[in-house]
Amino acid sequence: MSAVKGIDLGRRGPLTLRPTPQPGGNSSDGPRRLDLFQASRSRQVPRKSPSSVKLPGSKAISTVRPSAFDPVLPEARQAGDELRLAAPSRPDAREPICFTLKVLAKSMNVLIVYAHPEPKSFNGAMKELAVEVLKGAGHTVQVSDLYAMNFAPAGGPIDFLEREDEACFRYQREQVHANDAGLFAPELREEMDKLVWADLVIFQFPLWWFSLPAILKGWVDRVFAMGFSYGAGQRYATGVFRGKRGMLAMTTGGPPASYVEGGSHGEIGQLLMHIQHGMFAFVGMDVVPPFIAYGAARVSPEERAAYLEAYRDRLLALESTAPIEFEVAARSA
Ligand SMILES: Cc1cc2nc3c(=O)[nH]c(=O)nc-3n(C[C@H](O)[C@H](O)[C@H](O)COP(=O)(O)OP(=O)(O)OC[C@H]3O[C@@H](n4cnc5c(N)ncnc54)[C@H](O)[C@@H]3O)c2cc1C
Repeated sequence: MSAVKGIDLGRRGPLTLRPTPQPGGNSSDGPRRLDLFQASRSRQVPRKSPSSVKLPGSKAISTVRPSAFDPVLPEARQAGDELRLAAPSRPDAREPICFTLKVLAKSMNVLIVYAHPEPKSFNGAMKELAVEVLKGAGHTVQVSDLYAMNFAPAGGPIDFLEREDEACFRYQREQVHANDAGLFAPELREEMDKLVWADLVIFQFPLWWFSLPAILKGWVDRVFAMGFSYGAGQRYATGVFRGKRGMLAMTTGGPPASYVEGGSHGEIGQLLMHIQHGMFAFVGMDVVPPFIAYGAARVSPEERAAYLEAYRDRLLALESTAPIEFEVAARSA
């Protein structure tokens, strides 16, 4: 079940809505009573009409813990859904307080494709953090831990249960045939199923030779197969995975100053073009700006902690993070 992730109360103040325990338990039918609490102080908010409630703190409400809403709003599925709820008023009031709540975002299925040989690495820490934060925000997360899976990076005949042409191996032709005939090897089919399931795909990796570690590049070679993820004119704006999003979460050895125009390595967006545009955008995904922990092994422990905090913030702001506009993608379908 999708959790309701964002609720816009159309006014200010940090609130949490909690279902009030009902006599006879939490049955899913019938009206629900809600109590309003200030999330930050766990104190009950004055029960007045929404327009007249004055709240300290006055941060705009954008999200409320999904756990508070799951049992209350099981029917809310889509961003833009409006839900009308009645909250209990003072015993002496004539009417309950009514709220129209707007769902800002629905929960996502997130696939993290993680490529680092050492679980105690900083990449490992970023992956663990992403799982915790995304699950905590109501999303569903799967991780493909490529080293733990011993994922074979070299695409070729091993990808197929049977070949169309045993005499001469043509990779893309075999991919199309396998897609039509259901002949992908089980380990690929599993990864393909995860890709179809995912709303957001995160590649978590250290930058190796300005690119993906071979095990992750091999995952793309084998899983983004012709016929399955592109082909027959489907690419970029007409791509198979339109509506999905892709994001790079990565570390570098070099410092930020070396990854700007005129820096020793060149501008990072240009270096990542072959991944963000050549892989994600090519199959139709929108590309969320990358999160990069520069010089992860060289910076101080405090800076590493700050990276993790910034990554947490980024993960919590995914809904409001605009995708990258690729000029080339705009020109060609
Ligand atoms: C083959 C190869 C090619 C490379 N090519 C490039 C290249 O092209 N460009 C480039 O810039 N770099 C390159 N590098 C360097 C590489 O990108 C970095 O070594 C890598 O990004 C560092 O990330 P890591 O996760 O491996 O760090 P690690 O060395 O595993 O971790 C860094 C530090 O973080 C600490 N840490 C772990 N968990 C936490 C936590 N929870 N909180 C705080 N600290 C924690 C670790 O203990 C460690 O001290 C290359 C390296 C290799 C091996």
